[in-house]
Amino acid sequence: MNILVSACLLGVCCRYNGTGEENEAVKRLGQKHTLIPVCPEIYGGLSTPRPPAERVGDRVMAKDGTDVTGQYERGAWEALRLAEYFGCTAAVLKSRSPSCGKGRIHDGTFSDGMTDGDGVTAQLLEAHGILVYNETDLWKLKEKFETNEKDGQKISGVS
Ligand code: SF4
Repeated sequence: MNILVSACLLGVCCRYNGTGEENEAVKRLGQKHTLIPVCPEIYGGLSTPRPPAERVGDRVMAKDGTDVTGQYERGAWEALRLAEYFGCTAAVLKSRSPSCGKGRIHDGTFSDGMTDGDGVTAQLLEAHGILVYNETDLWKLKEKFETNEKDGQKISGVS
């Protein structure tokens, strides 16, 4: 199956601070699946490096006070475009990011605090029926896609 993946988890240096966040478990997914790398913040027109940003209410604000909501939304739609083009039914995105985080994200205070919520891209993908996981909960993807719900037989592997 085709899985949309945050490019930074494959080691691409596209994070706000110019680094990647290579993750071996995510890379191993590529042995059995086709990984489609995306970086919504770059697709939205932001540069690397860039000021860190967090979701604040219904906006996304950079630490320097710039409202970057438009760039985050544009990047999310471009990621969705690729997910749909490649027929991705699942995505593995970087945890805690205001774009890619799922379930828990930074709380908008720029003080390392966390709150319940999704990144802009994770939210849009899920709204379009794509199951979003973070690198921290790959076991959920494994549980969902390794076992055929009908007869309990394993149909594909995720290590
Ligand atoms: Fe990684 Fe997503 Fe941030 Fe791009 S937008 S650097 S893919 S977490």
